[in-house]
Amino acid sequence: MTICVLCNKDFQDIGRNPDPVSLFGECCKTCDETKVVPARVLEHHYKTKYGQITGRICITNLIHMGIKPQRTIELISKAEKIKNADLENERNYYGSFVCKS
Ligand SMILES: [Zn+2]
Repeated sequence: MTICVLCNKDFQDIGRNPDPVSLFGECCKTCDETKVVPARVLEHHYKTKYGQITGRICITNLIHMGIKPQRTIELISKAEKIKNADLENERNYYGSFVCKS
């Protein structure tokens, strides 16, 4: 007997990988078909649209934190701007020889 990480019910047959709905444990066949497969289809859609890494962040943010993909994209682009600002400051204070990219 194994307990499904998604519905908390015992199940007999082989456990399935619940990623991206759960990042740990095993899930039952029913949860795999009703929750995990649709989430993977959506993940595939996001990865196609936004790229592998950003698509992955979009699906995990949506499932685990309720953050919509559009908001995730905004947050990522803000993080890029901060990174660029840091780079600019580093160049100003330490000179371009310190920062190669
Ligand atoms: Zn289940």
